[in-house]
Amino acid sequence: ACTLMWFRSDLRVHDNTALAAAARQGPVVAVFLRSLPQWRQHGHGINKLDFWHRGVVALGDTLAGLGIPLLHRDIDTFAQSPAVLLQVAREVGAGALHFNYEYPLDEQRRDTAVVDAFQKVGLPATGHHDSVAFAPGELLTGKGDYYSVFTPFARAWHRQLTAARLALRDRPSPQPHIGIESERIRPLPPCAETPVDARLWPAGEEAAADRLERFLRFRARRYASQRDLPAIAGTSELSPYLALGMLSPRQCLQAVLAENHGSLAEGDAGIVSWVNELVWREFYQHVAAGFPRVCRYRAFQPHTEALAWRDDERGFNAWCEGRTGFPIVDAAMRQLIHTGWMHNRLRMIAAMFLSKHLLIDWRRGEAFFLRHLVDGEFCANNGGWQWAASTGTDAAPYFRIFNPTTQSHRFDADGHFIAEYVPELAELSPRDRHAPGEALRAKAGYPSPIVDHKAARQRALDAFKALPAAH
Ligand code: FAD
Repeated sequence: ACTLMWFRSDLRVHDNTALAAAARQGPVVAVFLRSLPQWRQHGHGINKLDFWHRGVVALGDTLAGLGIPLLHRDIDTFAQSPAVLLQVAREVGAGALHFNYEYPLDEQRRDTAVVDAFQKVGLPATGHHDSVAFAPGELLTGKGDYYSVFTPFARAWHRQLTAARLALRDRPSPQPHIGIESERIRPLPPCAETPVDARLWPAGEEAAADRLERFLRFRARRYASQRDLPAIAGTSELSPYLALGMLSPRQCLQAVLAENHGSLAEGDAGIVSWVNELVWREFYQHVAAGFPRVCRYRAFQPHTEALAWRDDERGFNAWCEGRTGFPIVDAAMRQLIHTGWMHNRLRMIAAMFLSKHLLIDWRRGEAFFLRHLVDGEFCANNGGWQWAASTGTDAAPYFRIFNPTTQSHRFDADGHFIAEYVPELAELSPRDRHAPGEALRAKAGYPSPIVDHKAARQRALDAFKALPAAH
């Protein structure tokens, strides 16, 4: 009998834990369940769905080179997964199923249902921890709780890390033809939205490996000093690849070890600081698994549920469209719309502007980001939004509200980033781009600020002060 490998957001053949386990058992048949209506319901938009689609096509080609057929089924909801997988298993005569875990709540429930359904008919179905060095629950505080603060989590992560956890999993060897043909990956159904230019985000593990190599060669050593400057391509831009598993964190960390004399925690400051971001990624996956309320549209800090968020359609639309009159915020939002990606510093600025200056419920911003991000990923996105809104783990204390104009001067000193994404301000002198005065705005056809920083800041402080105390 063959073994069934169920691919989800782990679209690669290198260093894939479940695939390696499946291949150890004999010939492999791969299957991908495309659950477009379910992913839409989760809030993903065309940029991610298109990247996902292209990633599956690339995976199919790579698998074909190994003689592994890839089957492709469309389903509407996760609830259909057990029945469809059982049917596929019957059709191909599979004796077992392997997959890599995903940690948000709906995904976990889907996987439990699949394992139960397979068990009922006597077929083993095995989940593997693959996208993290430590499975959720493996790193706990002294009291046995999930960490709710990053720094001690990161310390424990470094302390308990072993070479075995980082060892790359075997790529399957080519297998002889097993009489099952790959299925054509049907194109995405037509929809009203157009994805961003596919050339910005070439899909597949080869493209991912290429980016990783270029990052380590040209950017990593300057990462510590350049990672906050959106005008410079100073970060890896690997987030879409990590989100869909076209690249694994182990591959990243192994590359770091090779580059940094075998260390993740000491040595080159840029590289060490980049490793820290990968740990943040893992932290938020643990948070989603350990505090499932965050997967149910709830704040991590329950007392913040009482916050009096404002209804402000005009403000929300201005933010979405990059017309707030704060050039750095508008440049950020336009970068998101045009490229499907936003620089991390800008994600913080834009998210704080929505949740504090406009005092609009962070969940609306979270949903808007997810709809546009090519790297849209529940755990990191939710973690980032709750951080900015001061409702989450590690959250920014509510009284530390970024002044967007100060941030702009600090991180886009020459106004180059603003000029790129808000071209109507490009004619202005670099100094004037951060907060152009009335006359300059009028001439450029650029809107006036929709809020006054000081007044908006005070309004946010008052709203937070009115909350009941945290427990
Ligand atoms: P690099 O700086 O090169 O970092 C390497 C990798 O580490 C990233 O690719 C990413 O996988 C991970 N990483 C970096 N920073 C973080 C972080 N703060 N939290 C978790 N993981 C991190 N990241 C997503 O992958 N998907 C999202 O949907 C997402 N939404 C966000 C929303 C908000 C409001 C904020 C503040 C942050 C969000 N992030 C998200 C985290 C971060 O902004 C992006 O991962 C990063 O900008 C991606 O660029 P990069 O690949 O060049 O990152």
